[in-house]
Amino acid sequence: MTRLVALLGKPLRRRHSQVMHDAAFDAAGIDGRYVLRELDEVEVPGAVAEARGPGWLGLGVTAPYKRLVASLCDEVEADAQAIGAVNNVVRGEDGRLTGINTDAPGFRAGAESVLGAPLRGAEVVIAGAGGAARAVAYACLRAGVARLTVGNRTPEAAEALAAQLGAIGVTRAEPVALGSDGFARAVATADLAVNATTVGMVDPGATIPVGLLPAGAAVFDLVYVPAETPLLRAARERGLRAANGSEMLIAQAAAAFERWTGVGGMAGVMRDAVAPLLADPGAEA
Ligand code: NAP
Repeated sequence: MTRLVALLGKPLRRRHSQVMHDAAFDAAGIDGRYVLRELDEVEVPGAVAEARGPGWLGLGVTAPYKRLVASLCDEVEADAQAIGAVNNVVRGEDGRLTGINTDAPGFRAGAESVLGAPLRGAEVVIAGAGGAARAVAYACLRAGVARLTVGNRTPEAAEALAAQLGAIGVTRAEPVALGSDGFARAVATADLAVNATTVGMVDPGATIPVGLLPAGAAVFDLVYVPAETPLLRAARERGLRAANGSEMLIAQAAAAFERWTGVGGMAGVMRDAVAPLLADPGAEA
């Protein structure tokens, strides 16, 4: 029987996940397929119920259904509960569905790679307070960062993020308005600056004033299309270490694949498979 995983979302513009997971199924010798299901909200409960059936390994979940699908699972792991979003679902032997979040470990892998050091003890500033920013902030707090500042265009969303996550360890997120003096002060002492907004992908421009960053800082942009955003270009022109969101994308996918199949170590296979799409977004058509 072909084992199935379906990605639920709307719109589904990208094939990156499908290409990575299908390559991993092939490499692992598993008769499996990762299918894309662009659904209206009313269709989501039915698609989740279907994934309880035999043959299913689980689901991938993307915007705008990361909260809705959490409410349809039998259980949601503590990390995903704290983040408030499920980006994958694992089907148990008995058809029970568990909501998980692999964006947080995916971010940590990507961020520590560009930082060249553990996140523990680092000063981090995040632009954004949406779903991805919540996973990033949670990963930072769990990793034991020394300071975490969250700047958002709509400051109320940054305040809500900080209140929702609370203190983990000794650190809590400090909410500020993007572009405020408080945000600039945090950028001026940051070890790592993260863009977790859609700016650079959807809107032109950059969220982090790169000129204010200390000389040894690193910049991590969650956006991976285009491969080089204005933020990354400005960081590299200043000689700062800089990375886009592709390693996070690969790391979160490899973590999900391991949870579905028990087969780990697929990041390299996934990286090779998705490389053409990352190099040339036009190759998606
Ligand atoms: P989301 O929940 O819709 O949040 C969007 C965020 O962007 C909000 O903080 C929003 O601020 C901000 N924003 C949008 N337009 C802006 C503008 N013109 N100026 C300033 N801020 C603006 O989206 P998300 O799911 O968090 O995704 C955010 C980004 O992360 C996307 O580019 C996505 O592709 C990327 N991502 C990457 C990975 C990966 O694996 N690499 C994983 C997840 C997400 P307001 O609150 O003020 O609207």
